[in-house]
Amino acid sequence: MKKNESRKDYSGKQVSLFRNSFFERITKTNPLVAISSYIVISIGMIVWAGIYMEISPGAYLLFPAGWIIFTLIEYLAHRYAYHSGEYRVEGHWQYKVHGYHHDFPKDEERLVMPIWLAFILSGLFFGVFYMFLGKYAFFFFPGFLFGYGYYLLIHYLVHAYKPPKGYFRFLWRHHQLHHSKFENSAFGVSTRLWDMVFHTMPKHARMSKSH
Ligand SMILES: [Zn+2]
Ligand SMILES: [Zn+2]
Repeated sequence: MKKNESRKDYSGKQVSLFRNSFFERITKTNPLVAISSYIVISIGMIVWAGIYMEISPGAYLLFPAGWIIFTLIEYLAHRYAYHSGEYRVEGHWQYKVHGYHHDFPKDEERLVMPIWLAFILSGLFFGVFYMFLGKYAFFFFPGFLFGYGYYLLIHYLVHAYKPPKGYFRFLWRHHQLHHSKFENSAFGVSTRLWDMVFHTMPKHARMSKSH
């Protein structure tokens, strides 16, 4: 921990983000409740659509397509929205949304977007998908939502547990590098794909492929 970053805390300690106690309360979220809700809704929706809608079996390919599009949105939001402006300065919206997480990465109640806000955003995304895809949105959106749940799960596990073996070790390392030395790279959490595509792999990983 660097001395000049006085707010930084890895113990799981929490500090308030809002003076208003109502806002303070409604912005705390249990990550496992949120993650399991999104995954259950995602699978429930595609199973329901598969049973009650007349579509060709190819419609199921929209599930992985929705998931891949989510990973792109995840990367772009982290890089261009969360890390925009004065995101490390208290009081700015980017600090509340993300800078706080860089200071208090072990605060589990502020690891995940509040469920009520996620529902509003999900409704907007579903509306946009429905405009373009019609009934096929019921196959694309579950993939998108599943990607979100998977991203939240990986992010939660990276901060709560030590790195596992195999493929996931790379994801752990990737996000840990984002938090420690390379805040302006390694923006992907659930996949490193877009960091490779857009050349934002952390230098360490570029130099040594064995890590
Ligand atoms: Zn970040
Ligand atoms: Zn993180």
